[in-house]
Amino acid sequence: MTIRQKQWQLYYLGYTTKANIDGMLGPKTEAATRAFQEDNGLVADGIFGYDTEIKSVEIIKSIQTALNAQVAAGLEVDGLAGELTVNATVQFQMKAGLAPDGQAGYDTRAALLAPASTVTNETLCDFKTIKHFIRAEFACKCGKYCDGYPTEMKQKVVEVADRIREHFDRPVYVSSGLRCTQHNIDVGGVPTSRHLYGKAMDIYVEGVSAATLLEYIRQQPEISYTYAIDGNYCHMDIQ
Ligand SMILES: [Zn+2]
Ligand SMILES: [Zn+2]
Repeated sequence: MTIRQKQWQLYYLGYTTKANIDGMLGPKTEAATRAFQEDNGLVADGIFGYDTEIKSVEIIKSIQTALNAQVAAGLEVDGLAGELTVNATVQFQMKAGLAPDGQAGYDTRAALLAPASTVTNETLCDFKTIKHFIRAEFACKCGKYCDGYPTEMKQKVVEVADRIREHFDRPVYVSSGLRCTQHNIDVGGVPTSRHLYGKAMDIYVEGVSAATLLEYIRQQPEISYTYAIDGNYCHMDIQ
């Protein structure tokens, strides 16, 4: 590995600035090398030798693999930092809402290497992961037009219901979850109601006013729309 490449490794991992990539050894490179060695359980002698090279390559390979998965970067997984890896890192940082400096510092690595949640607004609810509700509580209540499940509830909105149950530590009643098209018409739902898609529910928490419930629901990041139906019940939905 050339001195310049060693400096690229240090720069990319957040130990030095781009201005210090000059191909010459000096106190700045030595200090950056020492900091990298300390963070990675290596002998902190400030000399970027074989062990340090191997360690930096190993770390950057795992980052490149993650970048290829996260932003389809198409990087060669060689463990060597360079412009392409920096550009892919910027792309990832913008997607993840991080400062787009192109360096894989602590925050970027944590975000990149953490197992990404695969739950989206379309993910069907897996009731095995839900503590306080069963599937039947969300069934369409028409009793005639459908078998109760014109679709399935979506994971995120049921997770919020579970959180509400935990927060107030009181029974939560679901007055409306899933609705088939005809039932939605019968109860006066708007044609675009998210109840049709398993993305909405109307709930009441025993002993808690709709105003108090609404205040809590509004704090939940998954919820895109909520309102009080009456003094007891609130509607909430996800996008
Ligand atoms: Zn129905
Ligand atoms: Zn509703």
